[in-house]
Amino acid sequence: MEIGRTPQPAAFRDAREVPLGETMQCQRCGHVHMVPEQISTAFWRDEGLVVIRDIPAMVCASCREEYVDDATALAIDMMRGAGLRADGAVARIEVPVFSFVVLQKAGTG
Ligand SMILES: [Zn+2]
Repeated sequence: MEIGRTPQPAAFRDAREVPLGETMQCQRCGHVHMVPEQISTAFWRDEGLVVIRDIPAMVCASCREEYVDDATALAIDMMRGAGLRADGAVARIEVPVFSFVVLQKAGTG
């Protein structure tokens, strides 16, 4: 899963209206073998990252592209809209922060 600053979570970039569990073809690579999995997504809120995990999805067995159905994407939008209060979090993670400018000056960028 990519972490992006875009308003829409990266996981839903290629999401289509596909009922989970039915035969579907990967929009990215054309593979037809999809595996039901639980995925995570991350997005920016104020100055911090917020993660929602345990999201039901279909994942391409070949290229790992993730697909969620419309109802799930809508539910996540509603959760984000409701504010995701910190006291409702089930876990916390520490995230290293890098500077593009500093890395580039150091010759690693
Ligand atoms: Zn694929």
